[in-house]
Amino acid sequence: MKQINLEVFRNVCERCGLEFESLGQSDDYGPIIYSNGLGSTRFLDPLVDPTWPEVSAIVDTLIASSSTRASDSQKASLFHSALTRTVDPPEMGAFVSWEYPPCPGCGSNSRSFFGPFEPPRFQDVELEEVTHNRWNRLSLKQKIEEAAKAIADRNNSDSNGY
Ligand SMILES: [Zn+2]
Repeated sequence: MKQINLEVFRNVCERCGLEFESLGQSDDYGPIIYSNGLGSTRFLDPLVDPTWPEVSAIVDTLIASSSTRASDSQKASLFHSALTRTVDPPEMGAFVSWEYPPCPGCGSNSRSFFGPFEPPRFQDVELEEVTHNRWNRLSLKQKIEEAAKAIADRNNSDSNGY
């Protein structure tokens, strides 16, 4: 367990209108928070987790070898999709990156509002670190296939293409 100071964000669900809070990090180099929206939350520390540079290298290689161009923000988004797949799933549901916690009311990922409170609110939370047991058992070839799948899924769900 580690104590982490997180910012509280305000969310309004686009589908059912429920207003709910999510916790996140505004610092790019801070811990990444994963939640299943059902009370299970864990963190990944980019500075110490070896999966971070590993997935970063795999995704960079995949993007470089594809014929399409990606902007920095698209690359970051594809990287986070691939990284999320390396995390062992919670007992219920699935972990998603803190940026898109599903609505606790209806499970939707779309929201009509997402942003910090004014004035900003912070909260100390005790979190367990994520594990990558399943990912660590994969061969390099399987890891590359997983990352490629994450990128393909992301591209399919992204109406803007990439
Ligand atoms: Zn909802």
